[in-house]
Amino acid sequence: MKVLGKVTLPLFCGLFLVSSCQPSSVEDVMAGTLGFDINHIDSSFSPCEDFFMFASGGWIAENPIPASEARWGSFPILIEENEIKLRGLLEGLEGKEFPKGSYKQQLRDYYISAMDSITVEDLGLESLRPYLDNVNGIKNRNDIKSYLQYAVREQIGVPFGMYVGADSKNSEAYALYFSQSGLGLPDREYYFKEGEVSDQIRQKYVGHITEMLQLAGVENAGRQAADIMALETEIANNHMNRRDQRKPELTYNKMDFESFAGLMPFFNWNTMAEELSINADSVIVRQPDFFRAMDKIFNNSDVDVWKSYFTWHLLRKYSDYLPHDFVKSSFDFYGRALSGTTENKPRWKRSINKINGGLSEPLGRLFSDKYFSPESRNKVEKMVEDIRAVYRERIMENEWMNEDTKEKAIEKLNAFNYKIGYPDNWKDFSQVEILPNDLVGNRQRITVYQFKDKLARLGTAVDKSEWFMGAHVVNAYYSPSFNEIVFPAGILQPPFFDAKADDAVNYGAIGGVIGHEFTHGFDDQGRKYNAFGNLSSWWSTEDSARFAERTQKVVEFYSKLSPVEGYFVDGELTLGENIADIGGLTLAYHAYKKHISKTGSKVINGFTPEQRVFLGWAKVWQSQATEEFLRKQVQTDPHSPSQYRVNATMSMIPEFKQAFECEEDDPLFITEEERAIIW
Ligand SMILES: [Zn+2]
Repeated sequence: MKVLGKVTLPLFCGLFLVSSCQPSSVEDVMAGTLGFDINHIDSSFSPCEDFFMFASGGWIAENPIPASEARWGSFPILIEENEIKLRGLLEGLEGKEFPKGSYKQQLRDYYISAMDSITVEDLGLESLRPYLDNVNGIKNRNDIKSYLQYAVREQIGVPFGMYVGADSKNSEAYALYFSQSGLGLPDREYYFKEGEVSDQIRQKYVGHITEMLQLAGVENAGRQAADIMALETEIANNHMNRRDQRKPELTYNKMDFESFAGLMPFFNWNTMAEELSINADSVIVRQPDFFRAMDKIFNNSDVDVWKSYFTWHLLRKYSDYLPHDFVKSSFDFYGRALSGTTENKPRWKRSINKINGGLSEPLGRLFSDKYFSPESRNKVEKMVEDIRAVYRERIMENEWMNEDTKEKAIEKLNAFNYKIGYPDNWKDFSQVEILPNDLVGNRQRITVYQFKDKLARLGTAVDKSEWFMGAHVVNAYYSPSFNEIVFPAGILQPPFFDAKADDAVNYGAIGGVIGHEFTHGFDDQGRKYNAFGNLSSWWSTEDSARFAERTQKVVEFYSKLSPVEGYFVDGELTLGENIADIGGLTLAYHAYKKHISKTGSKVINGFTPEQRVFLGWAKVWQSQATEEFLRKQVQTDPHSPSQYRVNATMSMIPEFKQAFECEEDDPLFITEEERAIIW
């Protein structure tokens, strides 16, 4: 995703032990055509020793992490490039006439309201006044109940989640889901993990709560902050951990509405259902134990502590919509202490982020109108089909699945839908009033509108044309319920995809990403959904056991990796992503091999076509991160750190060993015993 460096030099041979490394003989190409910059290579590493550093060391040495970033590399750089494009587009809307309610009027005025720091400073806490007054009005436990009703209606935050999505066992119907929530730290483990670093983070967190309460004029802020921390710790103690949250069978608890209401009778669910005209006989509860525990916590904790808690969470949630002092305090904790950044992002970037929160789809529309071509769609479509064809063959040929399960796997693979670029239909937000001088109001009106729009879908057929990511976003996703893979226009740019670049690099980069998303349909979670997007057991018992045997090797291998002293990759938490990386790149590699069997290929700058596929993948993960970021990543993120998305993936793929002729004593070489070939 970055366009970095311009000069391409003939390649250094003898930097690594590859027979193909002849004196940059066959063809040298200009940077931009090759698809990656030769100067990013660090020849002091051999590919079989540390492929990540080999491919990216040169870039890393010359590109320190900017002060406002916690990690820097291909993803964040393309994200920034897209932000710059969006800024230009948004500023270009100013001073023009657009009909009220049109997406351009809304984007323009939202951006103006977010950029208007003078109004935000003048307003102080006034924009939150009605909500804060409501908290202050709480006198007893019954008032807490009323406040919760109010907070759900206004969508200002309550310690549980409530949303509408496709029913995991009936993907054609919408269901109402309830989930755990309520923490100010990133995860339950942050409240309990032992050690100096964790102790310090908790201290700083309490300090941050204190500061925010003081800024809001609260008395005894220090004591209240300690109470809030104690309350959150109790809530955290009743949270399901991240590993279990990844198991669809544990988080699918369908029950009738009355049974659900009985889990946490403290809250008057029937009143809520009536007020919001909810049409649902049954609901799906992600973590029933959490709701049972919350009932006790609501009943037993001090009313004043709940008041402090609600005040804190309002300030936390809206910190970036408030005057500078609040923004700074929030950055000092969440940016500096938790992520290791030393400077906040500029206001224009934070303003785009705000729009992205509520009007992501219109923002993507503005982007893709200008920056996406049908030609890119055609090329990517071809790669999707190439990769699907290879996957089909590999499933047919694999040695560990029985014929019945294979047949069902192929059925699922054939049923995969894909979306590329941007949605066919744009959501209609014309009812939502967006004003140039009402930042918090804009956010609220959009949030409440979207919440009600989703609730109104209960009882209707699932809209399969819906996108869950703006078209400008640098990312891609697999949806198990829709059984589809989605690639927004935002990611279909260099270094992920470059219509003019070497095919090998494109297959390794965007091809690897496409393969990754396909493989999610058959990772430890995705495999539990069938061709229709329903959670259902279509695997034979023996095949499930053989799958688990293989994935266990992946868990063990990744669990040994430690990016920061004392912090290890969680092999279980990251299992699905690791399976997708290994499977995805393997698929892309073989799709490319098929492609060149028709078109032919050459050595370029000393690299064989096969080597360039792996370099294409490495380029996608070219990055570096702060220690704070890495600590947070291994505790909360299902994705492994970038260096392992390259090196561990290479260790698991035998085709990489062949391409670079790695030897048994090379660090990236692992034995057949350790390796797991799943897809
Ligand atoms: Zn993924």
